[in-house]
Amino acid sequence: MFDNLSEKLDKALHVLKGHGQITEINVAETLKEVRRALLDADVNFKIAKEFTNTVKEKALGQDVLTALQPGQLMVKLVKDELTALMGGDVEGINLSGDPSVILMSGLQGSGKTTFSGKLASYLKTKKTKKPLLVACDVYRPAAVDQLLVVGEQIGVEVFSDRGNTDPVAISKAGIAYAKANGHNVVIIDTAGRLAVDEEMMNEIANIHKAIQPQETLFVVDAMTGQDAVNTAKAFNDILNFDGVILTKLDGDTRGGAAISIKSVVNKPIKFIGTGEKMDAIDVFYPARMAERILG
Ligand code: GDP
Repeated sequence: MFDNLSEKLDKALHVLKGHGQITEINVAETLKEVRRALLDADVNFKIAKEFTNTVKEKALGQDVLTALQPGQLMVKLVKDELTALMGGDVEGINLSGDPSVILMSGLQGSGKTTFSGKLASYLKTKKTKKPLLVACDVYRPAAVDQLLVVGEQIGVEVFSDRGNTDPVAISKAGIAYAKANGHNVVIIDTAGRLAVDEEMMNEIANIHKAIQPQETLFVVDAMTGQDAVNTAKAFNDILNFDGVILTKLDGDTRGGAAISIKSVVNKPIKFIGTGEKMDAIDVFYPARMAERILG
């Protein structure tokens, strides 16, 4: 479905080689292809433009014009820049608390509940932790049931309080329960709405203030493309979150949202979701994502 960018760049620069020296104009032509690839991958237009301007400066500075294999050098430069833009090193989760409290935020349907389960399972197996899941969606009884099903599947206890309509009280009670029962990680799943609204923002801000989590994660559906950026900005303005979880990367999106979000909120993407099953979780690797985005 997608054309291969490396091939395109090589082709563009190859033709030029026939004419002797590669010029600044040719580099600009090549960067147009890069920009097109980024836009195809759903990267925000302004960000794609800024990115190609940066690459252009570096390309001219790094003697791409006189290199023996300018096409390859250009591709490497683009990939390295994209990787750096998305975060460089792999970022972990802060587990220094006792218990460590992780607050999940995001819109309804973004994959919060699913990811809460995946993370609990991941921490349990990979890091030998004893997590507790806390159900704080007081609006949808089905959401509590969903978390209970997830907990059952992965063998992780779920704390819920169905009669209670105060998510702050439930999260505090959940943390107290964790302390009393030897859970060293508490994952708090919160309610989301279909779009950003004041009530939801106030609610999550209140929970955040009351429990002061070690880690606040923002979950976003990679398929939502450019909308993901606005949502990320709205949540970050309120929560100053620690990291992003990009879900549904098993879909046919190239994942340009990863670049756009990182550029706008400057927070690391920590994990990705790659399916509905509980083991479909992966640490975010910027270099792999750069490959995917460029095709
Ligand atoms: P929440 O409303 O934010 O808690 O979202 P859910 O966890 O209920 O997820 C919404 C839907 O997306 C469910 O049908 C999930 O199975 C699905 N889902 C969540 N994460 C992924 C993912 O990484 N890949 C795919 N394909 N589906 C996902």
